[in-house]
Amino acid sequence: MAWGSADNKATMISVEEHQEAAISLASLTEVINVPFYDALGYITAYEVKASQPLPGFDNSAMDGYALQSSAVATASPEHPVVLEVHGDMPAGAYRLGVEIPVVTPGACVRIMTGAPIPKGADAVVPVEHTDAGMEKVAVTWPCQAGENIRLAGEDASPGSQVLAPGVLIGPSQVALLASVGALEVPVRRRPRVAVLSTGSELVEPGTPLVPGQLADSNSFALAAAVTRSGGVPYRMGSCPDDPESLASALETASREAEVVVTSGGVSAGAFDVVKDVLGSSGHVQFKRVAMRPGMPQAIGTLGDGVPFFGLPGNPVSALVSFEIFVRPMLRAMVGRRPVVPPSVVARAAGMLRSAVGKREYLRVRLEAVGDELVAVPTGGRGSHLVAGMAAANALAIVPEDQESISEGSPVKVVPMSGTAWEG
Ligand code: AMP
Ligand code: MG
Repeated sequence: MAWGSADNKATMISVEEHQEAAISLASLTEVINVPFYDALGYITAYEVKASQPLPGFDNSAMDGYALQSSAVATASPEHPVVLEVHGDMPAGAYRLGVEIPVVTPGACVRIMTGAPIPKGADAVVPVEHTDAGMEKVAVTWPCQAGENIRLAGEDASPGSQVLAPGVLIGPSQVALLASVGALEVPVRRRPRVAVLSTGSELVEPGTPLVPGQLADSNSFALAAAVTRSGGVPYRMGSCPDDPESLASALETASREAEVVVTSGGVSAGAFDVVKDVLGSSGHVQFKRVAMRPGMPQAIGTLGDGVPFFGLPGNPVSALVSFEIFVRPMLRAMVGRRPVVPPSVVARAAGMLRSAVGKREYLRVRLEAVGDELVAVPTGGRGSHLVAGMAAANALAIVPEDQESISEGSPVKVVPMSGTAWEG
């Protein structure tokens, strides 16, 4: 095969086709129960129901006076209605053993935010609409029945669904779980993902470099991406371009992990060791995907069916490939929905260029400017430009049939894993 024939357009597949092949390798991990306070970052396996009402009792939304609304129907600043104050209701009144007063038509009870509404009261007038009296209070506001009362169960009623299956648990979900008494949460176990770099030119970061050597960044970057995508990385470092070493490393990887991701050695070069070792296995296919960066891709299974991704070696190609193919597959393994992370639309803050026939994923920084999302390009198109990628938090898409997107035009953008905009 002549050099360059790998770029033959006729044999290229679409990004969607390869994404589907990736997702089809996923099998759900098993369900485990975790305490709600350890559930951060997990995905719900089943729906979660409230086991107690939220709020648990009718309570006050304000500091003020609990009263009968009919008694203050005529109240105004000019003609205040004066009521007797029959005691206090602090939040936590029941626990403190306070005697719960009863509100009668000519009386009221001083009440704090969150305190239970005493019997007989049907509204709370905020302290700002009174003279704040202690024995007697002058009310200057004709409040309506129900005003400033939070009803028991209005946030969640017992037995109702509070979280759907497939939801990512963040701080606000932890608050909800604690509040409704869902103390154990069924979630999907995080998949173990082996990450291995290939390349005889690679050394551990920090090793003094001789010309031709470079620091292995991919095994660290992809391990970090695995964590961000809900997996547990098993970083194996780098392996030289030697078939025996690679075969043995892949053997270990497929024994220790549930998914194996390598970088490098999948294109048409003379030392493309992944191709050499797995090309004839019958279980791994070498594809050309109509995208840039990330055209050469290997996909399939190792050992007894362990999903395998052979990503290209350039650091930008490797991470972009991870985000577009491996991330959806890992989301599918833990049941996260949607499986393919949604894109957002932003305004291009510069000209975005592409090669016709391929989908270009350009590194951009998504920024909220005023009411708008803006995509600011962070460097050139070269797949070796790590600094430009490090300044980015998203990938802007120039579609296959377009050569460019002009500055100021809307552009679809895929937020990277673990960023604020990731859906
Ligand atoms: P390959 O896909 O193996 O032909 O690699 C393409 C380019 O990416 C080469 O210039 C490699 O030196 C570089 N590269 C491959 N693997 C890594 C890695 N793990 N870390 C940093 N650069 C890499
Ligand atoms: Mg290589």
